[in-house]
Amino acid sequence: MAQWENTLEQAVKAIPDNITANEIIQRVMKAIKLRDKPVDKIERIFQGLQAEYESKKHDPSDMFHLLHILVTNHLNALETHIKDLKYKDEFLQSIYWKIVRDYILWKYRYKCILCGGGKKLNVHHKNYNHHGLEHLYLDDLTVLCEDCHKQYSLGPKEK
Ligand SMILES: [Zn+2]
Repeated sequence: MAQWENTLEQAVKAIPDNITANEIIQRVMKAIKLRDKPVDKIERIFQGLQAEYESKKHDPSDMFHLLHILVTNHLNALETHIKDLKYKDEFLQSIYWKIVRDYILWKYRYKCILCGGGKKLNVHHKNYNHHGLEHLYLDDLTVLCEDCHKQYSLGPKEK
């Protein structure tokens, strides 16, 4: 019998008889949640990115690539974290979106794709199919000036 099977058997024996299956599941889920909080890692990455962003030492392309590298092994946690944010009040203010948005503006040379204007530019989601992983699906994003943007929907329903 492998070591872990032994340990598991002892753990199962230690469960009191009067506990329900549901309670066992809840206890295990709670233990897993406490031990392994990948979302915390994302928060720490975001804090680091925020500090680099505020230092103004990096251009949009460098910041974008830094983001890319830091989150690459935590994509599930990233997507979960982002999807939990309220779209307007939290996501649009997040360091994640700031970095992606700045990069898209830079990539499109600070010009509206429809009229070529450079005033009051917005980075617009063409769709929200990859919300939380925008940095991997740059074709979902585009640059529109405020006037052109008004012709489009303004985003998903507020939470
Ligand atoms: Zn325009």
